[in-house]
Amino acid sequence: MKPNLTETKKYIYWELGTRNKKTGKLPKYKVTVKDYKILDCSCPARDFRRYSPCKHMKRLYDKMGHLEL
Ligand SMILES: [Zn+2]
Repeated sequence: MKPNLTETKKYIYWELGTRNKKTGKLPKYKVTVKDYKILDCSCPARDFRRYSPCKHMKRLYDKMGHLEL
């Protein structure tokens, strides 16, 4: 049996956003991790700053300790 070298390990983490003062809702953002590298986040900040990690990605990075950003 040949090892599958293209197989990647992909994980989804949920990070809490900032509470919306109007609605009182606490948003949750999806942070994508692939091969121990933090790739993306579903929050709006990523739409206009695509090449810099947002605070959720940084928070996950600080929390996990073994991931790359
Ligand atoms: Zn984010």
